Amino acid sequence: MTSRILLVLGILLGALRLDAAAPIAYRFSFPEPQHRWMQVEATFTELPAAPVELRMSRSSPGRYSLHDFAKNVYDVHAFAGDGRELTAARPDPYGWTVAGHDGRVTVKYKVYGDRVDGTYLGIDNTHAHINMPAAIMWARGLDERPATVTFVQPAGMKWQVATQLHPGASPLEFTAPNLQYLMDSPSEFGPVTIRQFTVGQRTFRFSLHHTGTDAELDGYMKDVEKIVRQQGTIYGEYPDYEPGTYTFLADYLPWANGDGMEHRNSTVITSTGSIAAARLDLLDTVAHEFFHCWNVERIRPRGLEPFDFDRANISGELWLAEGFTQYYGPLTMQRTQLVDVGETARTFGGLVEAVQNPGHLVRSAEEMSRMAPFIDGGRTVDRTNWSTTVISYYPFGGAIALALDLTLRDRSEGRVSLDDYMRGMWRKYGKPGGAREGYVDRPYTIDDAEATLAEVSGDGAFARDFFARYIRGHEVADYPKLLGRAGFTVRKRNAGRAWLGDLRLESRGGIRVATLVAPTWPLYAAGIEQDDELREVDGQRVTSDADVFGVLARHEPGDSITIVFADRTGSSRSARVTLAEDPHVEVVPAEQGGTLTPAQRAFRDRWLGAK
Ligand SMILES: [Zn+2]
Repeated sequence: MTSRILLVLGILLGALRLDAAAPIAYRFSFPEPQHRWMQVEATFTELPAAPVELRMSRSSPGRYSLHDFAKNVYDVHAFAGDGRELTAARPDPYGWTVAGHDGRVTVKYKVYGDRVDGTYLGIDNTHAHINMPAAIMWARGLDERPATVTFVQPAGMKWQVATQLHPGASPLEFTAPNLQYLMDSPSEFGPVTIRQFTVGQRTFRFSLHHTGTDAELDGYMKDVEKIVRQQGTIYGEYPDYEPGTYTFLADYLPWANGDGMEHRNSTVITSTGSIAAARLDLLDTVAHEFFHCWNVERIRPRGLEPFDFDRANISGELWLAEGFTQYYGPLTMQRTQLVDVGETARTFGGLVEAVQNPGHLVRSAEEMSRMAPFIDGGRTVDRTNWSTTVISYYPFGGAIALALDLTLRDRSEGRVSLDDYMRGMWRKYGKPGGAREGYVDRPYTIDDAEATLAEVSGDGAFARDFFARYIRGHEVADYPKLLGRAGFTVRKRNAGRAWLGDLRLESRGGIRVATLVAPTWPLYAAGIEQDDELREVDGQRVTSDADVFGVLARHEPGDSITIVFADRTGSSRSARVTLAEDPHVEVVPAEQGGTLTPAQRAFRDRWLGAK
């Protein structure tokens, strides 16, 4: 036999073995949905003789903090193939280990869930909103086994399933090729309305569970389609969505929690707002999340691939993965004419403001991305100084995207833009895809992102400099100059107003500082900190916050005043403070109170006009 025949035989045998791997069967039922729990049954067969380690995830794709989904699991029982109940031991808080089985284990448990968003589980008598990591136990070592998922219709309901899972043998049965894909496949089981449209030979489905009307949804779909079309022009094509469709899973319900969560072939979008009341906000989330089907789901940072369900996943590239997406959302809203240029100026103003925070002096965009496992979780028990040392990678990365787009356009006279950069990243890292569904074979690193900028701009020195200053370094781009070319003015929001800092005061045994004091505030140099009591400002006794703000209103930036204050020990001190000018900025279109030159208009149209 030739080596080629051996190879072919080997491939065939390999395929047979993979096909033969028995799928893991999940069954979701809802005996009492009004009490917010789901019954899960999972059957694992053809198990090796060793104890089977059943795990609940600690993390969820698209979230960067830990969620420890085992906390909502109870009433756990494991059975062998012959029906014997087995002991489910707890080796750690996150799983159950079952020994003494006969090669087959069925685990049955309840899981409680009462949060409708992109991360958790939401069960009630209106629907079952299921994020897989929050719901399913998986077995260590069986990642490559396929899975089947069967939904059991609750008594008296006629719910439908919307999901990126592959259709199975019946309308309530689905399949996934492996654990990575299964975990990435949230599913809505409820009274959903589904609309679909086709663009570029791709089918897009929009599943909506809401309290509004069909007519509202039909009108809304026209705008969703505009967004999908507009973003398709940036990349020049759509990804190959593995199930053959891309699905929006939207829950616009008063009892939902506002969120958007990206997946390979779907996105979960939840909001308390309705189409009637919050249309533009909802569309803005659609624009952000849909952009992720390229950027993050396929143009994927190496730190997130494959996703690790045992720990928090860290990536120094979230300024690009989330931040650039944060930029393209509103840019798409502008290019589709869903918002006007004044609104876009306000949004970009927010990005420019975000990088004024002194946090950029102590943590670079790369380091800020690595803070995600901490800041993505929200509240901490202990106090932190994040308000002055952390800028979220969403607006930080959005501001970098704005600077890079305008810089590329500026230096090439409009021939090269961030759209070219995203297309470059897509061709190198996204489009090649993965040999196994649910995986990305060529995730990128920061060095790859820099190399792609060098290629797209045709200037390696420029790319190196940009990354050194704004991504690995602590500099802030010259936004007034960059935005000026497109006819936007960056100006002080409260020009001439005296300022001590973005101070909040509260009455708590005296008038006390209720915010962390940033190193860039005049108050910081005076040695005043959170909780300190302000007793006298500029010779006036302080009895309310109005006394302090009244003093500021009477002064000019540059004036010095004396502040008498007490720290938490109660000892009184006094300090001279030089007032600054309120540094907050806003971005406005030049035509508001000025003129837009033809050159600025042309630059702006190339940037913000429909593609
Ligand atoms: Zn995002």
